[in-house]
Amino acid sequence: MSSTSSTGSTGSATSSTTTLITNIASLVTNDPSLGDGSPLGLIQDAAVVIDGDRIAWTGDSRKAPATDNRVDAGGRAVIPGFVDSHSHLVFAGDRTQEFNARMSGRAYSAGGIRTTVAATRAASDAELERNLTHYLAEALRQGTTTFETKSGYGLTVEDEARSLRIAAAHTDEVTYLGAHIVSPDHADDPAAYVALVTGEMLDACAPYARWIDVFCEKGAFDGDQARAILTAGRAKGLHPRIHANQLSYGPGVQLAVELDAASADHCTHLTDADVDALASGATVATLLPGAEFSTRAEWPDARRLVDAGVTVALSTDCNPGSSFTSSVPFCIALAVRDMGMTPDEAAWSATAGGAAALRREDVGRLAPGAYADLAFLDAPSHVHLAYRPGVPLVREVWRRGTRV
Ligand SMILES: [Zn+2]
Repeated sequence: MSSTSSTGSTGSATSSTTTLITNIASLVTNDPSLGDGSPLGLIQDAAVVIDGDRIAWTGDSRKAPATDNRVDAGGRAVIPGFVDSHSHLVFAGDRTQEFNARMSGRAYSAGGIRTTVAATRAASDAELERNLTHYLAEALRQGTTTFETKSGYGLTVEDEARSLRIAAAHTDEVTYLGAHIVSPDHADDPAAYVALVTGEMLDACAPYARWIDVFCEKGAFDGDQARAILTAGRAKGLHPRIHANQLSYGPGVQLAVELDAASADHCTHLTDADVDALASGATVATLLPGAEFSTRAEWPDARRLVDAGVTVALSTDCNPGSSFTSSVPFCIALAVRDMGMTPDEAAWSATAGGAAALRREDVGRLAPGAYADLAFLDAPSHVHLAYRPGVPLVREVWRRGTRV
């Protein structure tokens, strides 16, 4: 086994050591050229070889090459680490009372996102970072090895920029969402806020972000404003993604496809033309069932999208208001139970689908060259993620070739 050192392995201390993980009952590779030829590229009685922080070999355990170290998976399933391509984790405070009132059928007149904006502005950098790393650690324990996170609770130049600076210290997948809602400071003049988001705020935020996002919805930003915001971001080197068609029908999804956004997120209210647009372009439809669960809203129709040939990702939307879960397995179970996905499709969407929504090929699959990001399940197959909802099946997580 060659042990050439890998690149980009700053997080790994073992870049020239090879490790065999064997006695894997069922391995999801997400590489159709491996295993059974399905999109999941399933291999039974499988083994994986890790070289430094990358996968070097995947296949039948009886054909595995010699390595420096050997790990026995104990007949468990192994899957790629989850790729959670949509979260909002730079925030302070919580919205327990709002959730309790909503789920108790009581009216609640607090400010929704504005509540979190006020708490976030009042928090120190250290408090925001502590909160972020707390939820990132929680997600990692549940198998999430790649995560995207957004700003959007600062809504001033300084608070958006510091939110992104803090996020960028913990992930490469950082999204500028100054256009989450119109800032309360500009409630009387939304146009002035759009000018700020596309001007001074964008200049301050662009150095820390890879992506730009906008909440395109009645009461937030309309199609023309969303277009202006995403286009301005693109001119500064940020790539578009969009919150689209969550609460109502609207222009967001078709705008996403037109602008080649990496992802249109939510996609709960779609016309046939919206579905056709997604099927014809490279934009991934990212479904976030934690939001529908936590607001008792109508489910997005994953079956309709998959049948139309749309690439679907599943993510948590983890945020303190509308979806306070960091659990991708929970989202998989919801997608299978209530959105018409098969267990295979949901597992694919939460790993390879999330990678597609971030335009990444080095995560979300366990094939040679990909990062060695994987999760051992206390179960013989990935189907158990939906079959055993609410059970903490993720027993062990490896990230960049290291057990965490
Ligand atoms: Zn969101």
